[in-house]
Amino acid sequence: MTPDERAAWEAGLRAVHAEAAGVFAVYIIRPSDIPRIRAGAANGSPLAEGLNRATSHTIVEVHRAPRQAPSLCLSCPATVPRGSVFAVVLMVPDSERPEQCMGGVLCSRCATLDDDALQERCVAAVREVFPDARTISIHPAEGHA
Ligand SMILES: [Zn+2]
Repeated sequence: MTPDERAAWEAGLRAVHAEAAGVFAVYIIRPSDIPRIRAGAANGSPLAEGLNRATSHTIVEVHRAPRQAPSLCLSCPATVPRGSVFAVVLMVPDSERPEQCMGGVLCSRCATLDDDALQERCVAAVREVFPDARTISIHPAEGHA
């Protein structure tokens, strides 16, 4: 990451954090969730539309990452090479109409952990950046997307 990229990344994090006021909804999106999110987006759900866009963007980033610098798992030290099976984690500001969110990925091993274990690890990852961050868990399976 160049100094300019680092500055842009930090500015993005600050903007998302300001919008969230410390409150995020954490979505763990496994490959099996994608058809339901796309269907929700096609039916005009703004939340599903946003999750779909952010998920697609995150997947493209994994596939575009240089082979010598693959994406990293949010939950463990493993890399997430292109072509592997992985899950997407989106941390969405808990606001009426969130404008942006933070995204990350889980390696194929971590993606198989149960939701409670993953929630715990995601909260820990967010707190590394924002010690005061609080999270609210909303699973697509439970209604919104
Ligand atoms: Zn992992």
